[in-house]
Amino acid sequence: MQLLDGKLLSQQIKQEIAAEIALIRQQGGKIPHLVAILVGTMGRSETYVASKMKSCEEVGMTSTLIRFDESVTEAELLAKVQEVNDNPDMDGLIVQLPLPAHISADKVMETIHPAKDVDGFHPTNIGRMAKGLPAFISATPQGILEMLSRYNIETAGKHCVVVGRSQIVGLPMSILMQRNTYPGNCTVTLTHSRTQNLADVCRSADILIAALGRPGFITADMVKEGAVVIDVGLEKVPDASKKSGFALKGDVNFEEVAPKTDYITPVPGGVGLMTICSLMQNTLKAAKGEIYS
Ligand code: NAP
Repeated sequence: MQLLDGKLLSQQIKQEIAAEIALIRQQGGKIPHLVAILVGTMGRSETYVASKMKSCEEVGMTSTLIRFDESVTEAELLAKVQEVNDNPDMDGLIVQLPLPAHISADKVMETIHPAKDVDGFHPTNIGRMAKGLPAFISATPQGILEMLSRYNIETAGKHCVVVGRSQIVGLPMSILMQRNTYPGNCTVTLTHSRTQNLADVCRSADILIAALGRPGFITADMVKEGAVVIDVGLEKVPDASKKSGFALKGDVNFEEVAPKTDYITPVPGGVGLMTICSLMQNTLKAAKGEIYS
């Protein structure tokens, strides 16, 4: 069993991005600028946005955090998105989800200009990704691809089972793993809460990607000997032994599954750290006009 070490990889990737930005600065070029919009203080959004802003600082990127009270209207939010779209100094824009119920997240995503949509949530980017055209790919699936490729994990001809069909992780992951490229060329099965015989399906996976948000759901009996297991889940569970009173747990029961695998991601220290790196990489691409020139 080998750990897919998100901590190590994310440090390497951040160093690479920092080096590129240092060069841009040296040459008097435009420093990439990421804008994050945060509405209210719901759930873990505050923590997520803070770590994204901190990562920008670490790599030498410019970042701006725009905060709105939870009572902001949809029209006000859309106007701000448009303002960022029109500002040539701002290269990438993310609007942290979830949004309050009175605001349509779909409408907000569709208002972000595809060329600034570094989260890859705009239908144009999703469509382009599905067609295999240059596109911003959503950060978590892109982080997983990066992990597979940096560890040289063979994917062609493998059976990849994705558990969870969310718009931000499971669905794009399934599209990406079947593409005729590396990493890709898998035979993909996308599963969800209505899938029958899920344990059997998972057991047939050479590459198992769990993104369902049920801590410890994937147990040893659901995993094939020698599989590659990617754990996207990240949930807080009560843990009296921790100072904070909780621990972060993935969808995979790591202790019992890890010994059966060839490769596995830990939680924390796996996919989560890669996600932020992908966002930085996308912002750099946006600033350089690599996807939409
Ligand atoms: P989500 O929107 O919460 O959707 C969960 C998916 O899992 C749904 O498709 C659901 O099926 C499926 N599911 C739920 N229970 C199931 C069961 N018992 N058997 C089979 N499928 C089941 O998913 P998400 O936003 O992708 O989040 C999933 C997890 O990943 C969460 O823990 C989240 O915190 C974590 N996450 C981590 C990162 C990171 O950077 N590490 C990024 C994003 C998300 P239905 O569609 O049928 O309801």
